[in-house]
Amino acid sequence: MSTIKVDLSAPIYPSDGTGIVPNKPNERVEPDDEILRALSHALNRKMREAAKAGIIALRDELGTAEYDFVGNLPSGYTYVRRGRAAPDTRRDIRIYGHPSGGFFESGAKFMPHVVAMMMLYPSYCCCKLCEQMRAIDARA
Ligand SMILES: [Zn+2]
Repeated sequence: MSTIKVDLSAPIYPSDGTGIVPNKPNERVEPDDEILRALSHALNRKMREAAKAGIIALRDELGTAEYDFVGNLPSGYTYVRRGRAAPDTRRDIRIYGHPSGGFFESGAKFMPHVVAMMMLYPSYCCCKLCEQMRAIDARA
């Protein structure tokens, strides 16, 4: 099976990233490599599940290749790890930059937003933050 390398920071992708990072004291910006691996894993797993379930929509759009996200996150998005209070040594994931001001808590949750960018129509995104933002706009 072929692997397609995608650098989401390339100008072809219409990123809506704001570039805003709150810079909280217990949070640290990390290199993108780890979160890009998580994103690749989440997308490839989703595509395998969709194929098994007979859902062809995603494969119609993205083909049958595996995806490998390389380079950097989409422009304006920042990967941060947030330390917990001692003695808990776990570090939570924060992906900042969504126009709602919210953050994604994992690569898997960011993945639908990334797919919408890859397909060049971010306004149809079905990620949780975009859906919340649309719900708030609809009430206004
Ligand atoms: Zn979205």
